[in-house]
Amino acid sequence: MAQTRTKVKVDLPSDKISDYFGSHVFGDKAMKAHLSKEAYKAIKAARETGEKIDREIAEQVAAGMRQWAVSKGVTHYTHWFQPLTGTTAEKHDAFFDPISDTESVEKFTGSALVQQEPDASSFPSGGLRNTFEARGYTAWDPSSPVFVVDNKIGKTLCIPTIFVSYTGEALDYKAPLLKSLHALESSAVEVCQLFDKNVKKVQATLGIEQEYFLVDEALYNARPDMVITGRTLFGYSAAKGQQLEDHYFGSIPERVYAYMLDFETEALKLGIPLKTRHNEVAPGQFECAPNFEDINLAIDHNQLLMDIMEKIARRHGLKVLFHEKPFAGINGSGKHNNWSMGTDTGVNLLSPGNTPNKNLQFLTFFVNVIKAVHDYPDLLRASIASTENQHRLGANEAPPSIISVFIGSQLTEVLNELESNKAKKSTKGKAESIIFPRIPEILLDNTDRNRTSPFAFTGNKFEFRAVGSSANSASPMIVLNTIVSQQLKAFMTDLKAAMKKGLSQDEAVVTVLRAYVKQSKNILFEGNGYSEEWLKEALKRGLTNITDVPNALKAYVDKDVLKLFDQSGVLSAKEVHARYEILIEEYTKKIQIESRVMGDLANTMVIPAAMNYQNKLAATAKNMKELGMKKASYDVYIKTVEEISGYVSELKRFVFEMVEARKRANAVDDVEKRAQMYCSEVQPYFHQIRYLADKLERIVENECWQLPKYRELLFIR
Ligand code: ADP
Ligand code: MG
Repeated sequence: MAQTRTKVKVDLPSDKISDYFGSHVFGDKAMKAHLSKEAYKAIKAARETGEKIDREIAEQVAAGMRQWAVSKGVTHYTHWFQPLTGTTAEKHDAFFDPISDTESVEKFTGSALVQQEPDASSFPSGGLRNTFEARGYTAWDPSSPVFVVDNKIGKTLCIPTIFVSYTGEALDYKAPLLKSLHALESSAVEVCQLFDKNVKKVQATLGIEQEYFLVDEALYNARPDMVITGRTLFGYSAAKGQQLEDHYFGSIPERVYAYMLDFETEALKLGIPLKTRHNEVAPGQFECAPNFEDINLAIDHNQLLMDIMEKIARRHGLKVLFHEKPFAGINGSGKHNNWSMGTDTGVNLLSPGNTPNKNLQFLTFFVNVIKAVHDYPDLLRASIASTENQHRLGANEAPPSIISVFIGSQLTEVLNELESNKAKKSTKGKAESIIFPRIPEILLDNTDRNRTSPFAFTGNKFEFRAVGSSANSASPMIVLNTIVSQQLKAFMTDLKAAMKKGLSQDEAVVTVLRAYVKQSKNILFEGNGYSEEWLKEALKRGLTNITDVPNALKAYVDKDVLKLFDQSGVLSAKEVHARYEILIEEYTKKIQIESRVMGDLANTMVIPAAMNYQNKLAATAKNMKELGMKKASYDVYIKTVEEISGYVSELKRFVFEMVEARKRANAVDDVEKRAQMYCSEVQPYFHQIRYLADKLERIVENECWQLPKYRELLFIR
């Protein structure tokens, strides 16, 4: 029984995490031990300044990596990459190289490290790569360390890579992410130097809180909808909302605790700095979060973490769900992206300082981020749009699909002050007459939080909460980095123009920021994002509320957006179009699959269950009649049979109509139009079909009902 399964014993490598943290990573310690000074320096330089590694050094690095890996019992290596399917991909090659009929050596060359050509025809390319010339290649990303994955059967050396087509177009998330980071970092350095000439490098940082559900594996397998689509297409949730409000931060069930300990240990070995774990709001829902890292690494780690969590769950007879909304009527899961920027002088650019100069620097970055979000809300919305996430956004549990920014009462005051004060022209040389906005030293106590905001400032970072739990964070981060980078560039231009008019630098900064606050304040919202009033208010303010996927994705191919990506060097128009096509097709395919599964399950499980129960009821009524009982005493059974018939015939009709709608959509060639039809003509049937099936679930006796119910799925002991 799923309810009585016991916990799996977890063997920890040591009592102290510091003994094994990063033990499976070719990090600083391992590199020092296995690389020549020259090779070590080259990797360091590649990591810190993006310098290229030449062939000869790559040869040395590969040899050192192999030596380290073989010492750990590794037999194979793989280029590890993030295609646009949203998962990670790998293709393993052995180190082994035969040299005669009975002899072989362990071999790993520099070129095998640097580049590979996986047969790429089955990865989505949005028409960038015709299948007949299925040539894509992966190229080593030295800024993310290689690591060893041990799945208890074999050990593999994994090399983080980008994935591009033969003609150089990006086919993955990492390539544009790296470009967006480069763009952001260089424009941020320029702005930093206004305040501190010592800053030579800025790194964008990211801490990802990951929410997930756990269900018993056997029960999961008995739900074809979950197995195929990742969510329950049917299922009645007993009480609306969260059945157990005390689940949040409540004590963690033992079986789950063992699982957490197990995957955390594996993650820590891989250098993923997992720090926190707790229960989430919904029953069966949990969260974990690592310490923040440089964005590229944070995203690699998150992708790897999801992979580990899935594998380890099997060991515990559990299934981990990253789907944004696996259960109707119960909170879905998100992936909060905590984002900031830090300098090589150790300053967090989104952390208010304690001198006027530091504060002006903080305000500059703070206001520029707000301006960037204000200018590109629809693009940010597009970056988090997915078939799964649309069930979560705006469901009064996650932020609405309106993009707004929460900054807290103290900073609201600061911005008001900035907006109303006039920067005085400096008299007699000294700039002391400028009125600097005053920023309170300690910002934001924990009560000044707004969980209903999609994009919230939380003291020293922005938290993008609308990101879906299964997403690759690169998608929103590419957008955020790019828009902030462009905005910082625009800021420099505006600043120079203001200084040309005779303002001192400080005066000019204040003047430009003031204008930005005026222009972008309609995106600021401190109230309840779940409320009806906000929907109305946002409409009045002219903010967009895009609730469906095909419309949300359109922002990608907007003229200004194409220009933005192109100018910042992050994605060419051709690449953006290809991505757009992949995303829109993915949406269509997912709805198509859900629709098929829904129809199949209605016909083969729901309706037969209803029929079986009807037979029982009819037999009972018949027996009672034959026994000579009064009609009034078996009438209730006949009535129930009739009631069920009513639901079943309606159900049949809707399933039939849905199939017809699907056929009409499938006949359309244009991908955009087809997606639109799936959205407006197929998907609406889901709700109606589900409603009827859920009605039946409440009438039909348990024994006839084969699909495990919510009450069984949601409570793991
Ligand atoms: P919450 O209160 O939102 O649940 P958590 O403590 O669970 O917060 O997660 C906060 C996340 O923000 C962590 O991953 C943390 O490392 C990250 N974080 C903290 N400072 C920064 C920063 N400067 N840049 C990026 N992320 C940060
Ligand atoms: Mg959070």
